Amino acid sequence: MLYDVNIVYDNGQTTNEIIHSNTPPTFYPKRDSIKSIIARVHKYEVEGSFHPGLHTGSDGKKYIIPRWTEVHPETTYNDIVWIQPKQKKVIEHIQGSVGMYKTMFDPNKNKYTCSCMGFWRSKGNCKHVIALKEKHLVSKVK
Ligand SMILES: [Zn+2]
Repeated sequence: MLYDVNIVYDNGQTTNEIIHSNTPPTFYPKRDSIKSIIARVHKYEVEGSFHPGLHTGSDGKKYIIPRWTEVHPETTYNDIVWIQPKQKKVIEHIQGSVGMYKTMFDPNKNKYTCSCMGFWRSKGNCKHVIALKEKHLVSKVK
C-alpha cells in the first residue's frame, strides 16, 4: 500500500512524500521532533477509456501507461484507481398525444426511462422505450 505523508516538524520544516508500506506507517513524534502528521492511503487516479497498465522503463522507473505518468517504484495495480469517462445520455423528445415525452437512455446505468404515463403502466416498456431500444439494436448491427 502507498501512503501520502505530510509531516510538519517542530522547526517549521515540512515534507510531503509518498511512501510504500505493507502496514500503516508508524511515526515517532517525540523522537523525531514532529509537530503534526497527516498520513493518507495514496491512490493514483487515472482517467481514460483504456485500462491503465504499469510499466518499468529502461531507466528503472515505474510508469502508468498509456500516459507515462511516473509513479512510486513499488506501485501495484491496487494503488491505481481507474476512472472511466462517463458516457453521454441519449435523450429523445417524442411528440405524443398529450404533449412531448422525454425518452432517455443512460449508458452508465444501462437504463431506459420515459416521461409518459405508459412507462409506469408497462413497467418500463412503453412504446417510446421500445422504439429507442430498437433504434440502438439497428445502430449496433450497422
Ligand atoms: Zn413512453
